[in-house]
Amino acid sequence: MQDDGGKVDLIKRAAADLAGSTYAIALTGAGVSTESGIPDFRGPSGVWTKDPEAEKRAYQSYAKFQRSPKEYWEDRLTGPSLLGDLGKMAPNPGHYALAELERMGILKCLITQNIDNLHQKAGNKNVLDYHGNAFKLRCVSCSARFEAGEFDPQQLRKEGRLPPLCPRCGGVVKLDVVHFHEPIPADMAQRSLEEAGKCDLMLVCGTSAVVYPFAMLPRVAKQRQPGKERETLLIEINAEPTALTEAKVSDYLIQGKTGQILPKIVEEVSKRSNV
Ligand SMILES: [Zn+2]
Repeated sequence: MQDDGGKVDLIKRAAADLAGSTYAIALTGAGVSTESGIPDFRGPSGVWTKDPEAEKRAYQSYAKFQRSPKEYWEDRLTGPSLLGDLGKMAPNPGHYALAELERMGILKCLITQNIDNLHQKAGNKNVLDYHGNAFKLRCVSCSARFEAGEFDPQQLRKEGRLPPLCPRCGGVVKLDVVHFHEPIPADMAQRSLEEAGKCDLMLVCGTSAVVYPFAMLPRVAKQRQPGKERETLLIEINAEPTALTEAKVSDYLIQGKTGQILPKIVEEVSKRSNV
């Protein structure tokens, strides 16, 4: 555990590092969202810990989609929503701090594992939803994304016209959310790798980065890249040390809640830019 004095030093160090960076990006995971009351999946009161049947169904979603997009959609429209009413959830101070860093011109891109759209709600513009976005749909043929409201699946169901089809290419449309066993959409995987390859600072927030291929991103950032002047600095903000801490992929860990640490870092960055 870090004592408070040590933590204050690290917060100042992170602010200085961010202020000195030329291309900072952030990776975020479930830890950022749980502070907004969004349940995780495997924690003590996680969605699946409480409902193992739901986990089984989640594992089967993609196979079902491949077998029968119509049945996949029928399930979506008749079954319970896994994450409850995500639309009512609000960003927390951690989300707002990351949006502020983007507004200041420091944070250039944010790659999130979360599907809840809270980074966008907080004001971040350049967000890559690595595992998809619960409020969007995606064409599996041309990867076009659509706002959920652009389709009326209930109506299509009544008319016997499921699954929804892509207005651009006629391909089958599914939820944008990436299901188990479903590959990360190629455009998303590619753009994320590019961002990780070119950043000179990566903030890893609220994720232990163990789920592949997302877990590759911090490791890619650490690799030497041609044309990059200095080694990428990797700062972790997590409640507990992770595999990244132990394998020294991260340069340092600021231990605590992202909703508490990130606003303090932003405060320090603002102080620096006011001098
Ligand atoms: Zn399409």
